[in-house]
Order: sequence, then structure tokens, then C-alpha cells
Amino acid sequence: MRSWSIPIGRLFGVDVRIHLTFFLLPMFIFWTEYAAHQGNANGPHDLALAGIILACVGAHECGHMLAARRVGLIPKAVILLPLTGVAIYDESRVEKPVEKQVEKQSPPALLWRREIRLALVGPLVSLALACLSAAVVTASGRGVELWKWPFLQAANLPRSVVWANLYIAILNLMPAYPLDGGRILRAFFSRTLDASSATRRSVSISNAIAMVLMIAGLFSDSWLTMVGVIIFSAAQLEERALVFQSVLDNVRLEEVMLTDFATLSPADTLEDALEKAVHSLQDDFPVIRGSDMVGVISKQRILDALRAEGNGYVQAVMNKIFEVSLRQDSLGTAFRKLTARNSSIIPVVEDQRLIGIVTLQNLMHSMALLAESRKLRRDEAES
Ligand SMILES: [Zn+2]
Repeated sequence: MRSWSIPIGRLFGVDVRIHLTFFLLPMFIFWTEYAAHQGNANGPHDLALAGIILACVGAHECGHMLAARRVGLIPKAVILLPLTGVAIYDESRVEKPVEKQVEKQSPPALLWRREIRLALVGPLVSLALACLSAAVVTASGRGVELWKWPFLQAANLPRSVVWANLYIAILNLMPAYPLDGGRILRAFFSRTLDASSATRRSVSISNAIAMVLMIAGLFSDSWLTMVGVIIFSAAQLEERALVFQSVLDNVRLEEVMLTDFATLSPADTLEDALEKAVHSLQDDFPVIRGSDMVGVISKQRILDALRAEGNGYVQAVMNKIFEVSLRQDSLGTAFRKLTARNSSIIPVVEDQRLIGIVTLQNLMHSMALLAESRKLRRDEAES
């Protein structure tokens, strides 16, 4: 999920990451400045310009994040690209339950209006910052020519602050998902389409726009190519999140549960249990008495108990409160049950009988595989 980006810190409880396209930016600026000034580029200024753009995107995204928090949507991470940010929601506390809750209170009509409001906050923040910085720059009376081309230039950083914000505000209104204009477009589509079809349609339009920009940039301003590349990368990120979401919603536990697994008995001693655990790849074990499931225990718990209290019985240290699932439950439900109880194993039962287990470890592995195989199947169907 997080490939092509690196973490830089946390803000309002959200992990902030930088996408690799951001590291292309200083090189790109250096290259355009170098070409513009016949080999007279200024490294520190070029880096400062990239830093200004990062700060402006960060401020823009903060606007979205604070607005989203107010309606109860809290992303797990936000990935910053040179023009926009992509919010990533946790696989376990997916946007879904919140959405459903909100849906119950307000009709769908309000939901798409809410999307549009959330999308508009970002460009408004950028526009306000552009006005504010323009006022400060003008008041400073240092003769910064605000209207001199090129607007974004490493040699004139104060002017670049104003224009970086203005560009971010305007470019984000393009109907290219996941830019804000594209989100507004998707909100309109979602009035008649289900969420994933609406997103897919917006992504197709976005890819077309990105392609046109990339090609147009080759014949005119190379910044257009850069914008095209950024839109394309951002749309890819969003699409991947969408595939993940559809795996969560549509895959049943019976498709991924482990049917060949080791079990422990409550009468086993911890040392016996450890011995069994050594011979198994599992980290978590169901504890079975006769045909009844009476508890769950993890390899770590066995080790901790052995260290703290010496040998004893599984019965005494196993977790007796646990959630069970049915074979037709979705992966999303299993994830929520796992995180709600902070456990790492869910027994799958049928007529009170244990027919399989799902562990966090096994879910992570199968999710990635399923996402890949679904994408492959869809690509095949589309071509
Ligand atoms: Zn935005």
C-alpha cells in the first residue's frame, strides 16, 4: 500500500508520507532553470523552491484533513505529491463504517454534497494563502514583481510562494481524479452510479487528461508534462486503494481461511504448547476441548507466560473471550472484529463446529495476493 513513498512524520494523528515524484521535483526545477539560464542554475534556491511547493501542498492537505475530521473521517496516512495529496484509509477501520453511520443520518443527496464541500476546502485554503502571501509581499515593498513571467522561479522565492499557492488552487480544480475537481466530478457520478463505478469512471477521465498534459508538455511548457505525471501517479494510488476496498467487501472468509492448522488443548502444558508451536508456521492457535472451541492463544502469550510464571497450563493463560465468524462473512468484517478485540486470530465456525481459522498474518498475505489477482482479471476483461 505504501510503496513509492517514505514517511516524514505525523500531523493531527495522521502519518504524513512523501511520494517519490516529490524527489523528481528538485531535479526537474534544476533542469528547467538550467535550460532557462544557459547553465546558470542555483542549487540551494532550487531546493528552496521545492520546499515551498511541499509546504503549500501540506497546507492545502491540512485544510482537507481538518474538514474531514469534522465529519468523522480520519485517514491513516496522507501521501504528498508535488500538487496534491492522497489520503489512505486503514484497511481495518475502513471509511466504510463511518460512511454507513453518516448515511443513516443523512440521505445520499447530502453525502455527495458533503464530498463536494470537502473537496472545495483545499483550493479555498490555497487561494487564501495566495492572497495573504501576495499582501505580505506587496506590503514588504521589496519590489517583488508579482506579475512577471515566469511566475514560479527559483531566483524569486517570495513571488514563487504566491504563485505556488495560486497554481495549486487552480490546478486542483481540474476534473482529473484524485485532484479536487475530479473528486467533485466523482461526487456527481455517484448520484447515479455506485461508489466504485463512479471512481473508475473518474479515473479513466483523469488518465486521459494526464496523457494529454504529458504530450502537450513535450511541445510547450515542460511543467505540463510534470503535472501529467503527478496526476497519473496520484490516480494509480487511489485506484490501488479502491481495489483493496473491493477485496475487503467482496471476498468471503471461506476463500482465504486456513483449513489445515494446529490446535492446542486446554490441558496442554505451556512447554508442550511451545513445542507444538515450534513445529507450526502459525502465530496463533485455537484451543479445543473435545469438539468445542474454548479459547485462543498466541505463541507470544505462551512465551510471556513461561518467562513470567514458569510452566503452567494453557487453560490458565488462554484468551477465553474471542469473536467467531461465519464462512460467508467478508474480509472487512473479519478485520474489524480482529481490531475491535485487538486479537490476531478469528475462528471460522459452522454449526458450532470449527472449520477454519483466519489470522492477521494470513489476512495480510492473502489480501495482497487477492488484490493482485483481481487487478489481473480486470485488466484481462478490459483488454
Ligand atoms: Zn485538494
